[in-house]
Amino acid sequence: MVRAEGVHKRYGKLEVLKGIDLTVRRGSVCCLLGPSGSGKSTFLRCINHLDKVDGGRLTVDGELVGYRQQGGELHELREREVAERRRDIGMVFQRFNLFPHMTALENVMEAPVRVAGTTKAQAREEARHLLERVGLDDRAGHYPAQLSGGQQQRVAIARALAMKPKLMLFDEPTSALDPELVGDVLDVMRQLADEGMTMVVVTHEIGFAREVGDTAVFMDEGVIIETGDPCQVLVEPEQERTRAFLAKVL
Ligand code: ATP
Ligand code: MG
Repeated sequence: MVRAEGVHKRYGKLEVLKGIDLTVRRGSVCCLLGPSGSGKSTFLRCINHLDKVDGGRLTVDGELVGYRQQGGELHELREREVAERRRDIGMVFQRFNLFPHMTALENVMEAPVRVAGTTKAQAREEARHLLERVGLDDRAGHYPAQLSGGQQQRVAIARALAMKPKLMLFDEPTSALDPELVGDVLDVMRQLADEGMTMVVVTHEIGFAREVGDTAVFMDEGVIIETGDPCQVLVEPEQERTRAFLAKVL
């Protein structure tokens, strides 16, 4: 579903991704870990067309990210084409970025109605169903400010799912939450994984990565240091840098 081959990204002189090679198979969960500044968010942003890859090859579902191949030549995608591709990818950020002036239900309905042209009645029905899936059917009429951080984050997941994405990206979805709210969000993500969603998850929740992840990837300074079965990478890492990092987060 996601294939990165020698992916490079720089901001000015700063080389943030220095040749990332990674494959995320359809239906699998890839957990990405690494110190602050190692390039985890940048990598997700590249997958989601929020940033442009400077070198190497990045494909999602077989399609080159950011470019269209035509007669052996690469052409940059137009804005509309980017928007179309991005519909297939759901993203959930660390900070809940719900629309504050809309209820939970309206937040979930927004993209299907505005972007996908779904009728309001249908979008409402689907949104209700999604809120039920994340355990918030009784909060449909609440505004974000009336919800806990964990509830807001679950609405954010429901909102991303409303566009029926093929791939879900999570960037530290629980790291801004009070500890007692983390579990509910991870449960929703676990359920999503069980249903077969392809997911790339930046997280330092080692337990989640071990139980739900099919692969764990440890990144540092723009390179992948170690990748493999989470139980191996996160319990008996081969690399000293991985070990040192885990000693800090555990
Ligand atoms: P964290 O765990 O703190 O979220 P991260 O692994 O997600 O870190 P990134 O956000 O990908 O790290 O950032 C990698 C590097 O790229 C950092 O040094 C950061 O300062 C730099 N960077 C990120 N975005 C930009 C930008 N838009 N312009 C310039 N530099 C940037
Ligand atoms: Mg980040």
